[in-house]
Amino acid sequence: MELGPITLIPIGKVESALLEALCPALEQTFDAECRRGMPLALPEKAYDPRRRQYNAEEILRLLPAPVRRRVLGIVDADLYVPRLNFVFGLADIVERRALIALARLRQEFYGLPAEPALFLQRMIKEAVHELGHTYGLGHCTDPLCVMAFSNTLGDTDRKAAAFCEHCRRRLKGK
Ligand SMILES: [Zn+2]
Ligand SMILES: [Zn+2]
Repeated sequence: MELGPITLIPIGKVESALLEALCPALEQTFDAECRRGMPLALPEKAYDPRRRQYNAEEILRLLPAPVRRRVLGIVDADLYVPRLNFVFGLADIVERRALIALARLRQEFYGLPAEPALFLQRMIKEAVHELGHTYGLGHCTDPLCVMAFSNTLGDTDRKAAAFCEHCRRRLKGK
């Protein structure tokens, strides 16, 4: 069944090279066309100066929700939702839109030397995971599946960028 194209929307300043790396990976994984949408500004009202983070739920609501398409917003900042210290990403399953936050995927965030290839892998995994939710997939108990829940970056690094057989079958069945 045709799942519809994926639109990437940079929110705030996002390096163009990152979107160029992400699109082909998503096209391959979801067998769907990936295109770049109109960038959005980072909404200052979503910024919590005390936490020095943006509210992910507020940003997610700003994303368009076109019919028969998937929208992935990319924010190069640190995001939170109330009650959690931070989130790597967030998905709105009903409107089929999702969001990923890049800040904590970089080694530099933890005072470590940059590892660009590792960072790209993490970004792709988080993007596939959040988009997977928009295709109706829940969290997977297989720790190597991209739909496994990532509590820490260690979880993200351990899992693959691909779906396990079970999730792949569910995805295809959509
Ligand atoms: Zn998830
Ligand atoms: Zn799975």
